[in-house]
Amino acid sequence: MTALTTVVVGGGISGLEAARRCAHRGDSVTLVEASDVVGGKLVSQDVDGLRLDVGAESLLARRPEGVELIAAAERTGDLVHPATSGAGVWLDRLYPLPRQQLLGIPTDIDDPDLPALLGADGMDRLRQETPPDVGGDSLGDLTVAELVGGRLGPDVVDRLVEPLLGGVYAGRADQISAEMAVPGLLDAVRRTGSVVGAAASLRSRSAEGPVFASVVGGLGSLPSSIVDAGGFHVLTNTMAVELTPRVGAGGWTVATDNAEPLQADRVVVAVPAFAAATLLGSVAPRAAAVASGLQYASVALVTVVFDAGDVTALPAGTGFLVPPMTGRLTKAATFVSRKWRWVHDLAPDREVLRFSVGRHGDPRGLDLADAELVSAVLDEVRELLGIVGDPRAALVTRWERSLPQFNVEHRARVALARETLPAGIALAGAGWDGVGIPACIASGREAADRVGSVIAGG
Ligand SMILES: Cc1cc2nc3c(=O)[nH]c(=O)nc-3n(C[C@H](O)[C@H](O)[C@H](O)COP(=O)(O)OP(=O)(O)OC[C@H]3O[C@@H](n4cnc5c(N)ncnc54)[C@H](O)[C@@H]3O)c2cc1C
Repeated sequence: MTALTTVVVGGGISGLEAARRCAHRGDSVTLVEASDVVGGKLVSQDVDGLRLDVGAESLLARRPEGVELIAAAERTGDLVHPATSGAGVWLDRLYPLPRQQLLGIPTDIDDPDLPALLGADGMDRLRQETPPDVGGDSLGDLTVAELVGGRLGPDVVDRLVEPLLGGVYAGRADQISAEMAVPGLLDAVRRTGSVVGAAASLRSRSAEGPVFASVVGGLGSLPSSIVDAGGFHVLTNTMAVELTPRVGAGGWTVATDNAEPLQADRVVVAVPAFAAATLLGSVAPRAAAVASGLQYASVALVTVVFDAGDVTALPAGTGFLVPPMTGRLTKAATFVSRKWRWVHDLAPDREVLRFSVGRHGDPRGLDLADAELVSAVLDEVRELLGIVGDPRAALVTRWERSLPQFNVEHRARVALARETLPAGIALAGAGWDGVGIPACIASGREAADRVGSVIAGG
């Protein structure tokens, strides 16, 4: 029997997983990737002679998908967890980020780190959680600020939730959908009658063990391992430009900017939503309309390498987060050499730090030239971290339109968009199903399975 042909458009982690899964069940798979390398936001680059992640650097290990994909890529031997734990929130000084929280929502109001961070008024308000009003059986979504701020008070939002949402989504609590930010939260609130109780019940349900994981060499080293073990064909420097029904034979034609059009029984579209909008325009206009309505935030990462002796007051932990209320440019920091033993071991005499800049609706800093951006960030953090002298090397990585902003009812819109897709086409990726790497992998898997029911020529 001839194998079914599947084309996967987009070589980010979602597309790689979709391609791997389709190949595993016997499809003949070609993955087309517009850039010169697969991985999308999982990518590494040389800084001061060290090969470092300059995109995603850590995946949630309490969901199974990331660790499973590392195993499928035959990299289990390289699996690592952070060498230290804990993080700070930078207000007037650094406060420990309470450990008992879920995306900043306290799961234990007796956490000893809460009072310093929230202050007396904030604690009073938290203790008097207003019973939530999220409607009996109706599944209406709310913004995170409406749900959390309305019940637990504004300080929890401003000092806890905003820094975490800024770190993960570059987004704001008054815009992001509660259902997307913490899947299952609204249902749990309805069940438990409490936002704190709901967050606690979701947290207790997640797997035991370390929260985060990576691989030696960084997550940027994972995509090529997935390809090596995956059994599918990759065309880099190849942008899909149009998707049309194949005349007569059923299936699809994928036109590209650099090769003969590809013929496929099935197509998985695993690109950012704005790129999907172009591809879907003629075959699924309603899905294209949903895709083009999704906004993205731009961010930049500043990676700096110092001589270890030039960073004199690095606090314990993996880094810190900065709430928008402080007005600072710096949004988050990762103490890379402290967080990842393999980075420390590459250069024990150096200190690698990484800072992130840019929030949705607040692109300050992103228009600065690289050298100016590095200076602006270091000027802000120099005193806090005890930095003396200049970095040995610095690299700015700009991630334009990289983080989708999930407004209220995003999930419902996506479900509708998927219903209008013709058979044999599926959507995967962060823009549809969530930005975290495990969510993207799950999205790729589901897309592979969804097109899996299509028969050749059908
Ligand atoms: C700076 C940054 C740091 C992050 N850190 C973390 C982290 O530590 N942990 C975590 O879990 N998540 C992190 N995320 C989020 C996570 O990395 C992403 O949500 C996820 O990697 C997206 O994967 P994807 O496959 O959906 O899309 P992408 O990675 O965007 O991949 C899409 C691919 O499609 C290609 N493409 C686009 N158009 C076309 C076309 N027409 N034809 C062919 N190819 C095309 C692109 O070149 C790209 O390679 C981070 C995101 C950013 C921006």
